[in-house]
Amino acid sequence: MKDSNCIFCKIANGEIPSVTIYEDEDFRVFLDLGPAAKGHALIVPKEHYANLYELDDGLCSKVFLLAKKLAVHMTEALHCDGFNIMQNNGPVAGQTVFHFHLHLIPRYEGDTAGIQWNPGSASQEELTQLGELLRVR
Ligand code: AMP
Ligand code: ZN
Repeated sequence: MKDSNCIFCKIANGEIPSVTIYEDEDFRVFLDLGPAAKGHALIVPKEHYANLYELDDGLCSKVFLLAKKLAVHMTEALHCDGFNIMQNNGPVAGQTVFHFHLHLIPRYEGDTAGIQWNPGSASQEELTQLGELLRVR
């Protein structure tokens, strides 16, 4: 399904041009217009899924294999020093385009991408309780 109001549906399906570095029947991978670092690209499915929770399981199993293939290829081409793979779900998590996408972000010594979080703290009791809550049974 496509969403006629969704910019990534239009880009993924070629209605809006993009600098595409990979395409197959399921995905388009194109360069981010506001790159966190040189070569920042987005893996975008051609069908509309708002986020990871909605993403089709078959595509989900393909997307990380594709991420690995592209990370290897981009690292060789760009000679970057490291690589982040990111995926945001919901505004509070930083999602701004509500069509599932995986960020491929090459990293360079001294770059200004600034992808990090402030480490918090948790007591052993809290961790044990959370472990009980979250254990998949
Ligand atoms: P997120 O914040 O995880 O939803 O990521 C959205 C990403 O899409 C941001 O990194 C934007 O720079 C990028 N973006 C938004 N519009 C476009 C566009 N038309 N072409 C390429 N990248 C875009
Ligand atoms: Zn869409």
